[in-house]
Amino acid sequence: MIQIEKLKKTYRTRGRTVTAVDGVDLHVREGEIFGVLGRSGAGKSTLLRCVNLLERPDSGRVVVDGRDLAALPERELRTARQRIGMIHQHFGLLTSRTVAGNVAFPLEVMGVPRRERARRVAELLDLVGLAEHAKAYPAQISGGQKQRVGIARALAGRPRVLLSDEATSALDPETTAAILRLLRDLNRELGLTILLITHEMEVVKRICDSAAIMRAGRLTESGPLPDLLTRP
Ligand code: ADP
Ligand code: ADP
Repeated sequence: MIQIEKLKKTYRTRGRTVTAVDGVDLHVREGEIFGVLGRSGAGKSTLLRCVNLLERPDSGRVVVDGRDLAALPERELRTARQRIGMIHQHFGLLTSRTVAGNVAFPLEVMGVPRRERARRVAELLDLVGLAEHAKAYPAQISGGQKQRVGIARALAGRPRVLLSDEATSALDPETTAAILRLLRDLNRELGLTILLITHEMEVVKRICDSAAIMRAGRLTESGPLPDLLTRP
């Protein structure tokens, strides 16, 4: 479902070159939850952002659901991107919009008509257990509920792939467990393929089918769980 080949990404800042992703090969199978585990600065976020072309790789290939995004013209890229959901550590909600308004936002951008939008938003809020909070503002709900909004919004375009950038890092352990359960349920119920990055071994242990360890821009080990984490 996600095929990454010889991916390389460098940043140039103040005359210095940092190689954030240094020749990564990765294959995430359809319907699996794949985790990339690594310390801060390992290149995880850059790798993830190359999957939906929030970052342009210097070289290498990324094919998602059969499409090589880098080869698509701008307009088709926008459509293809809508089919890749993404959730973030700090949720990234619009504070001036209600819960329902946040979930509706991508549907508005896609030009989904008002009536269908309302139906779809209700369906999405139901899916993440937030139906009763549709009219609340982000400031009025808990962190776990905010991430549920983030997840509902990410699923608006009916993506087959969800990218998770440290989605539970800002949450307490109990809320983390509930969000991970929700992601696992969505993975099973919708057949959603999930690629997540985290610095927490616990997250990988809890929900990943397979994982890789990232160090200094490279994937050093990868394989199915639990074998990967019990190797000497
Ligand atoms: P991680 O997500 O594992 O913490 P990142 O992908 O954020 O790693 O960062 C990998 C390396 O790339 C780090 O050295 C970081 O400082 C550098 N980096 C990340 N984003 C940028 C950027 N926009 N400009 C310059 N350097 C960056
Ligand atoms: P907690 O442990 O904090 O109660 P849960 O995940 O058990 O968190 O549930 C919180 C709310 O989200 C409940 O209303 C539950 O019914 C709802 N919920 C959890 N997972 C799903 C799901 N996959 N689909 C729909 N609703 C869900």
